[in-house]
Amino acid sequence: MKIVDLKTFVIGNPWKNWVFVKLYTDEGITGLGEATGGLSTKPQQADVEELKRHVIGEDACQPERLWYKMHKARFLGQSVGMSAIEQACWDILGKSLDVPVWKLFGGKHRDKLRVYANGWYQGPRDPVFFAEKAAEMVEKGYTALKFDPFGGAYQQIERESERLAIDIVRTVRGAVGANVDILIEAHDRFTVTNAIRLGRKLEEFEPMWMETPVRTYDLAAHLEVARAIKIPVVLGEGFRNLRQFADLLSARVIDIVQPEPMSLGPSMARKVFAIAQTYEALIACHQAQSPFCTAMNAHLHASIPNFLIQENFDDSLEPWTWDVLSGVPRVKNGYLTVPDTPGFGVELNEEEALKHPYSDKHFLRLFEEGWETRRPPEEQNNGRGMGNL
Ligand SMILES: [Mg+2]
Repeated sequence: MKIVDLKTFVIGNPWKNWVFVKLYTDEGITGLGEATGGLSTKPQQADVEELKRHVIGEDACQPERLWYKMHKARFLGQSVGMSAIEQACWDILGKSLDVPVWKLFGGKHRDKLRVYANGWYQGPRDPVFFAEKAAEMVEKGYTALKFDPFGGAYQQIERESERLAIDIVRTVRGAVGANVDILIEAHDRFTVTNAIRLGRKLEEFEPMWMETPVRTYDLAAHLEVARAIKIPVVLGEGFRNLRQFADLLSARVIDIVQPEPMSLGPSMARKVFAIAQTYEALIACHQAQSPFCTAMNAHLHASIPNFLIQENFDDSLEPWTWDVLSGVPRVKNGYLTVPDTPGFGVELNEEEALKHPYSDKHFLRLFEEGWETRRPPEEQNNGRGMGNL
């Protein structure tokens, strides 16, 4: 089945523009992939468009082969655009065989996937606000909540801000009770000694994990922190090759990793899962893009024995999301049901997509105060009562 066209779509999600890739085939079947760039939208779109010349005329039903063709064409390079094209090919392959992608991965180990919510604390950096929101999420059925309590901290944190961060975690733990997992996101913020001090202060609240407390690329620093605190340290969303996962896991200190399938591509993500299996490590894929990635990750997570938990933003997305993307699995009582629709099961409504264009304000500012609102500075008030948030 030959690929005859490729188009990109940018959708203006308020805190991160989403980039989609659609492949069209000579048999009329289309496939969807995502190449969202976070802080880099237009380069991602341009990357995909430049790859078009390697893609037109290729067989859509051989996803990994096409990825390697692009890999070699780029002198053994790799990009999210390449991954998005590979994703769209898996979608087409599934549709062409009338099976969900998880069947192509060898079947599913489970029908439901436990979820942790992220993005639920869009408002002031205030313990009372965090506690109220956390309680609402538990009321909705979530059994795990992730949050970054550290404000705009970079490398270090002021004493007052540190006390506030600890207070936020304490009040959230009090609000959700002992049986709900809390997951602490640190966004690469700290030096080793600051990360260890903070980690030790957080131990009493029994977080499920502390995520990227130091720079993502610094394996030695992560191992140092992980050895020093009694909270599991996790990372992996920023890794772009298999060796990084092997090097990390072979130290036998960290046993939860967070590969990002949108960046790696489904084929490489599955190789990461196998490396993790080698070390009896667990998988919790990163997912901070559109709900298309929720669906893709559900297929991937369903197909492996070493799944831990899936990231999700369902309850903090714009209401129009569900008009732009149809067929996405939705969280119910803290769990996702593994989809049975052919391919990844998600379709992009091109007409609806046009209603939500790119904006240069749609970027997250993780190292500025007030980033938790996930709104541009001019739209930030005290966070309470912010529209549909
Ligand atoms: Mg993270």
